Amino acid sequence: VKEHGRGDCCFYQRQMNVDLLERVQLDHAMREALQQGRFWLAYQPQVDLRTGLVIGAEALVRWTDPTLGTLSPGRFIPIAEETGFIIALGSWVLGEAIRQGARWQAEGVDLTLSVNVSVKQFQQANFIESLAHCLRETGLRPGRLELELTESILIHNVEETLRRLEELVALGVRLSIDDFGTGYSSLAYLKRFPIHKLKIDQSFVRDIPHDESDTAIATAVIGLAGALKLRVIAEGVENETQRQFLLEAGCHEFQGYLCAPALDPQSFLERIMQVGL
Ligand code: C2E
Ligand code: CA
Ligand code: CA
Ligand code: CA
Repeated sequence: VKEHGRGDCCFYQRQMNVDLLERVQLDHAMREALQQGRFWLAYQPQVDLRTGLVIGAEALVRWTDPTLGTLSPGRFIPIAEETGFIIALGSWVLGEAIRQGARWQAEGVDLTLSVNVSVKQFQQANFIESLAHCLRETGLRPGRLELELTESILIHNVEETLRRLEELVALGVRLSIDDFGTGYSSLAYLKRFPIHKLKIDQSFVRDIPHDESDTAIATAVIGLAGALKLRVIAEGVENETQRQFLLEAGCHEFQGYLCAPALDPQSFLERIMQVGL
């Protein structure tokens, strides 16, 4: 082995240990934060493109740490997914979103709550049972809950996944495919699985209408949704040009800074009262 080869090896070894240590520490901190109630949900409006009214909200998890401040999910969700903590966190998120949805429902605030679901969480044996239990306990109408599933959920164990999705649909819950087109897309699953909605990822929305390929992909997804009689929402809409383009292309809904970022529940209510519900 050459001198520099051994050096590289030790360097990588050291890097890996640091990363591992960081992951272990963060995992520990997350478990503590969940127990101490330091996670909370921010809500981002989903707007009907035709009427301009808010019809739903995506629940997005936040972690406010007394010393680190508010951490974005981009920093801790990937680690939670690796360590398996996502199962506990995701289950808390789903319960909290359902409880918030039920409170709003009781106040006459009619919204569909969209909740992100991770692969490991979806694969838990008691996932559907505890979801059904939570819906019954809170009284949230199942049609007011939408699960945002990633394409990675759909490629695992197709028969079992199909059975689970059908069980969820039988409960009355709605199903959406998140980040559509960014994963291992096989269009065949759209025919087999009982999906209600496609969500166009912000990477395809950002450069509309300047980037030809992104614009073509967004237009194609909207067309595909139309042909399959699915609803379609675009995320990451930041300006009027994008909104106008999506409206004319036949997209049904949008979500993005043009309406509002994800907000704490009180600010969210104030904002949607300005926009219209
Ligand atoms: P996502 O599901 O694709 O969510 C959209 C992300 O884009 C959110 O970031 C949102 O705040 C951001 N965003 C919304 N509108 C705009 C816009 O107009 N412009 C730009 N540039 N960005 C916009 P956030 O909240 O940081 O979440 C990041 C990712 O973390 C989410 O991506 C999702 O994959 C994951 N995540 C968040 N909450 C949960 C959760 O409760 N469970 C799971 N499993 N994943 C979650
Ligand atoms: Ca999402
Ligand atoms: Ca996502
Ligand atoms: Ca996305």
